[in-house]
Amino acid sequence: MGQPMPAAGRTLDAGGRLVTPGLVNTHHHMYQNLTRAYAPAINGTLFQWLTTLYPRWARLNKESVYLATYVAAAELLTGGCTTSSDHMYVHPVPELIDAQVQAVTDAGFRFMANRGSMTRSVEDGGLPPKEVVQDEDTILADSERLIKAYHDPSPGAMVRVALAPCSMFSVSESIMRSTAELAERHDVRLHTHLAEDTDEDAYALEVYGRRPVEYFEDCGWATPRSWVAHYVYGSAAENARLAAAGVGATQCPSSNMIICGDAADAKGLRSLGMNVGIGCDGSASADSADLWLETRTALLLGRFRNGPDSFTAREALNMATEGSAANLGWADEIGHLNPGACADLVIWSSAQLSQAGVLTDPVEGWLRSGPARAHTVLVNGTERLSEGQLQLPGLNDVLAGHRRAAEAMQG
Ligand SMILES: [Zn+2]
Repeated sequence: MGQPMPAAGRTLDAGGRLVTPGLVNTHHHMYQNLTRAYAPAINGTLFQWLTTLYPRWARLNKESVYLATYVAAAELLTGGCTTSSDHMYVHPVPELIDAQVQAVTDAGFRFMANRGSMTRSVEDGGLPPKEVVQDEDTILADSERLIKAYHDPSPGAMVRVALAPCSMFSVSESIMRSTAELAERHDVRLHTHLAEDTDEDAYALEVYGRRPVEYFEDCGWATPRSWVAHYVYGSAAENARLAAAGVGATQCPSSNMIICGDAADAKGLRSLGMNVGIGCDGSASADSADLWLETRTALLLGRFRNGPDSFTAREALNMATEGSAANLGWADEIGHLNPGACADLVIWSSAQLSQAGVLTDPVEGWLRSGPARAHTVLVNGTERLSEGQLQLPGLNDVLAGHRRAAEAMQG
């Protein structure tokens, strides 16, 4: 700000088209696109679904994680998403997040890596098999290594790192506490799953003698540094406490509907002052990673729950942009188009058929009609999608490799 306008290298004509900030995805498990719509798992409860898939995910390696992350970034770009976090919590071999950073760098995609972790295997009363859990010293040392290697706090950063123990049924109380301390020391964000399923309430009472939110608070996580995925089953008092503490939440509309049967009351949480963003969740739960679709589904869920005058397309768009950016602690630079913002934006295609007759409100028309497709997507000022076509020269090779990796994992 205050500087003269630079000369334009190229002028894009967005005449007649809606332009929005790039959408921001605040909960994903990109590696899961290697087991998308995996038939043996799809009709189980959350816990059954997890225990069926863990042995498959134990086959992850650096190459398959690179391929999965590249595919995820490309898929997200087509739905108008320019920044995504990714909760990578399965670590059967080391340096998987290094492979992710390489993939998003090759795709030119803005990224917040979430160093996920699991410590409690079946032998310790947890859900995952021992092949995919790690000891606490390994997790903390690797977390610190990744922060030093990749976390860029400077303006316009393309990669940042957050710390993210998976969930209370797969990590110990001590790693929750020590992870929060490490995040404080390095000034990075904290993320985990919370209040996702009614099974979690019963598990928390039996194992920890507390409700999930009470446990979360006791672990030192009720701070503005934290954002949590799903957050469906908090009580009214718990919602108020977490909102007052500055904790953010990610609504994952499709995932909750397909696997849990209930969804966060985004409207109610926002009215308490909580930052609520949007996430597509992992590609083996929601099976798609389209932020436009998730934003539309958030609109439907909000109105389905609270009535026809309760929730507008602008509110849903606000969740997917400013709300999501706030979840990532990145609200100063992304999720809006004010001076000083990163040049992350979407020019949406004008859909002649599906938007025929949309005259009075282009934002309502964009979200109610559809499906909407991105026409042009800029990430950090570079076109990664032009006239509906991804500008990723390596994509065909990546897709062929992804097919082989998915076959090896599912076979
Ligand atoms: Zn998740």
